[in-house]
Amino acid sequence: MKVGIIGSGFVGATAAYAIVMRGVAREIVLVDLDTRRAQAEADDIMHAVPFAHPAEVRAGGYAELRGSKLVVLTAGVNQKPGESRLELLERNAAIFRTIVPELLEHAPEAVMLVATNPVDAMTHLVLGLARALGHPEARILGSGTTLDTARFRSILGRRIGIDAQHIHAYVLGEHGDSEVFNWSQVSVSGIPLAAFSCDACPGSVGAEDRAGIERSVRGAANQIIEGKHATYYGIGSALARIAEVILQDQRAVLTVCGPLPRLPGFEDIEGLTLSLPNLVGGSGIMSTFAPSLDAGERAALLSSGAVIRTAVEGLLEGQIAR
Ligand code: NAD
Repeated sequence: MKVGIIGSGFVGATAAYAIVMRGVAREIVLVDLDTRRAQAEADDIMHAVPFAHPAEVRAGGYAELRGSKLVVLTAGVNQKPGESRLELLERNAAIFRTIVPELLEHAPEAVMLVATNPVDAMTHLVLGLARALGHPEARILGSGTTLDTARFRSILGRRIGIDAQHIHAYVLGEHGDSEVFNWSQVSVSGIPLAAFSCDACPGSVGAEDRAGIERSVRGAANQIIEGKHATYYGIGSALARIAEVILQDQRAVLTVCGPLPRLPGFEDIEGLTLSLPNLVGGSGIMSTFAPSLDAGERAALLSSGAVIRTAVEGLLEGQIAR
């Protein structure tokens, strides 16, 4: 299976590397304005192939994306220290207005997976551009809160002393400051968190720990950016996992973002692009689930939707003005 990656900077190259290490694609094409960088990354990753799984990794132009089952969009400028994801929006929207028409011309059948931040608004922009260019059926999703959900589960797992894969917990809404922690539904081995106890576990998580855990997840990207200027291992691995789910039609539940269908009780955020638990398979998002929320979480999700609505309204005005 062929995967294209547009943007072979930290995130794109790490995603390509993680896809090779996971063995989920046979062919990867890296497209970047900086063609020397794309070629160098492709050559470097090819040297990992003998230690991983058979794959062909090369740099190329848009024409070489033809036949891709999936194209990952990671092109853009990066978040500066202290810069909010929404502040990145206009800079990256201008880049996407040149990329998306090329992509739709050469690989209209591909599922498009957006990672460029602010990811919810950028995914919404790709949807809008695809519709405007006559591709209303384009299959588009964003990485959304996949990484935040992983960070949340990982912190819970470490605190309790249980492998994070056995903890069910979701971060919903915006991939950003307004994201919502679905505490009311956290469960460990199917037992609600509040009722869970374990003799052999070194720790536990109580209501008093919630604010600190939320701060750690929300602040994770900025903390890493302060130390090393970019984040890429977590998101690269998340993108490889989403790629695996799509390429293998795995029907997994992931908090990717896509346009919300009409869901009972969530009419106020219908049509916005944000993350809820989604069934993901070979064609991208197959179904979106209405989550169980307590009153506080519901209000927070609606506020998060309002943040995205504001960003997107500005974005569409910008799109028309160009
Ligand atoms: P980077 O600067 O290392 O790479 C960006 C690449 O995009 C560069 O190689 C650049 O040449 C390329 N590019 C720019 N304009 C282009 C164009 N018109 N066509 C093709 N390529 C173009 O940045 P990075 O660290 O890889 O981050 C990329 C994006 O991913 C940023 O927006 C960042 O905020 C985002 N990100 C998202 C998440 C998430 O959870 N969704 C996590 C981390 C980073």
